[in-house]
Amino acid sequence: MHRYYFDHNATTPVSPEVLEAMLPLLSDVYGNASSVHHFGQMARQRLDQARASVARFLGAAPEEIVFTSGGTESDNLALLGAGRGGHAIVSAIEHPAVLAAAEQLSAVTKVPADSRGVVDPQDVRRALRPDTKIISVMHANNETGAIQPVEEIARIGAEAGIPVHVDGVQVAGRMPVDAPRLGVAMYTISGHKLYAPKGVGALYVRKGTPLRAILHGGKHERGRRGGTENVAGAVALERAVEWMMEHGAQEAARVAALRDRLEQQVLARIPDTHVNSAGAARVANTTNLRFDGIDSDALLIALDLKGFAVSSGAACSSGAPEPSHVLLAMGLTREQARSSIRCSLGRSNTVEQVDALTAALVDCVAHLRKLSPVYA
Ligand code: PLP
Repeated sequence: MHRYYFDHNATTPVSPEVLEAMLPLLSDVYGNASSVHHFGQMARQRLDQARASVARFLGAAPEEIVFTSGGTESDNLALLGAGRGGHAIVSAIEHPAVLAAAEQLSAVTKVPADSRGVVDPQDVRRALRPDTKIISVMHANNETGAIQPVEEIARIGAEAGIPVHVDGVQVAGRMPVDAPRLGVAMYTISGHKLYAPKGVGALYVRKGTPLRAILHGGKHERGRRGGTENVAGAVALERAVEWMMEHGAQEAARVAALRDRLEQQVLARIPDTHVNSAGAARVANTTNLRFDGIDSDALLIALDLKGFAVSSGAACSSGAPEPSHVLLAMGLTREQARSSIRCSLGRSNTVEQVDALTAALVDCVAHLRKLSPVYA
């Protein structure tokens, strides 16, 4: 049976060029980048080079890049490292890596999203308090793809003298990012969402941003993150972002056409279907589809049996009985939220796969609706 992968927001495979670039760092150039001898210096050189490439990808200076173990650690470092002892403003549609970290601070205000899944910057302004130490709003939502007005939020933060962190995990590699131009103090990226392996990420930290380490140990990463550097991971991330700088725009246009084709076909062929966040600007690869009267987990399993991998919410919360907090924050009912699936496209997908997924959706939705006690 064929297996078609439509879950690139959960993770992506390591691309051949990334694997090729990182392998020598696991076998030949294995020194500890903090060692003074030749082996250490070889590793240090590659780490510095990787840092320069990741910095260029984000429009930053090399010393503004902290390598981390991924998106979760970058988000935690930003929130806990800059917000300790204070009040945080986050949006209600953030990834748990931000929401759970914010809960560790003294106080947190969650600003809402509208029915399109977009945050109003004025709500962020209204939530400011004298003890606010950090604002964190994601660049694009992982479930709906809705792009958030982070530039405007960064301006509000700058006026108030509060650092703004942006979780860009679902944007990096899908749209060009210039962190200084966005005006943000910190920006999170994660390797495994852009064809590098799991276990590597980075946090852009604008010069002068007060940030304390959350992993205590050696003075690695300019004292911002203790722990022997993952040079192979950094080099993998370097190769991944280099590919994106060269081919990202073309690939995004290709994937956008596929996503639009999928939405048009599904809306035309399946009645009582909606695109969540349709009214918002969205990253090119993501669609969140709602089928009235369907249970999304049943649909996910039916599609999996036919060889199609999609998601019924954020991957990390799949299996949890709760409906998506993102869709609820947009004002959907629990039933509506539980009848929505996410398809996120990527490099492996083709027109033929999109057409096959459409046909599978037509079959599965019709079948499940026949069995549905709520679909009239
Ligand atoms: N932030 C967002 C928006 C995400 O989608 C994810 C992963 O799904 C993360 C953070 C966590 O990243 P990582 O899996 O690299 O820890």
